[in-house]
Amino acid sequence: VPALEVDGLRHGYGGNRLALEGVGFRVMPGAFTCLLGPNGAGKSTLFALATGLLRPTAGQVRIHGHDIVQASGDALAGLGVVFQQPTLDLDLTVLQNLRYFAALHGIGRRDADRRIESELTRLSLFERRGEKIRALNGGHRRRVEIARALLHRPTLLLLDEPTVGLDIPARRTLIRHVHALCAEDGIAVLWATHLIDEIDPATDHVVVLHRGRVRASGPVAVVNAEA
Ligand code: ADP
Ligand code: ADP
Repeated sequence: VPALEVDGLRHGYGGNRLALEGVGFRVMPGAFTCLLGPNGAGKSTLFALATGLLRPTAGQVRIHGHDIVQASGDALAGLGVVFQQPTLDLDLTVLQNLRYFAALHGIGRRDADRRIESELTRLSLFERRGEKIRALNGGHRRRVEIARALLHRPTLLLLDEPTVGLDIPARRTLIRHVHALCAEDGIAVLWATHLIDEIDPATDHVVVLHRGRVRASGPVAVVNAEA
């Protein structure tokens, strides 16, 4: 069963052009899938539909086979999301922020602290746990956002333009960490970007979105040939 499957997805905001016009693709378990498209292609709209924030005009979103409109609780339990808008409290420390989100998920304190330690360690953030978010650079903040999104152990992670505002070394570090999540834990990743150079040899699948339609979909080599 695909981790994420979208099928015939349409969405309009009421203007004369649809934001999405019949989009379909799959993200397989353990696969790093890049959703590549210029600004305005429909990436954020797709994320809003895949997380249940918006209802599609037509079409389906299934997470591990559960339709998110009909079975939203079951579908959303396995989903972790890194939105473009920051969700962290700047005046709390890394640890305080993560404990807060763990409590929101109903994770007990001891279990939460174990999970937080393991996520911070693999994201190379453990030494930063006592620092306020305000004191961290952009790359570290994004990695804390990823740790937050992983606390409830999702099997599908959606990241909407996670590298916006980062310099090239910080982008490379972030991509390397997220590839490691796929390889080590079999987490399925959908990584949205407008930057073609974020597609690297470890990318399993690329979906090219353009003006609300899938222009190409396949392994990196196939998409390079069509682009
Ligand atoms: P179909 O004609 O069945 O829709 P697709 O072109 O979607 O075929 O997929 C062809 C092959 O690529 C299938 O074996 C499918 O499992 C695989 N595949 C499709 N989408 C993805 C993806 N996002 N990640 C990894 N493999 C994929
Ligand atoms: P991307 O994330 O790829 O930049 P979006 O999903 O934000 O693309 O935008 C797709 C299209 O939908 C664009 O034409 C955009 O102007 C339009 N759009 C996005 N959000 C809204 C909104 N809240 N109201 C009206 N139009 C919107």
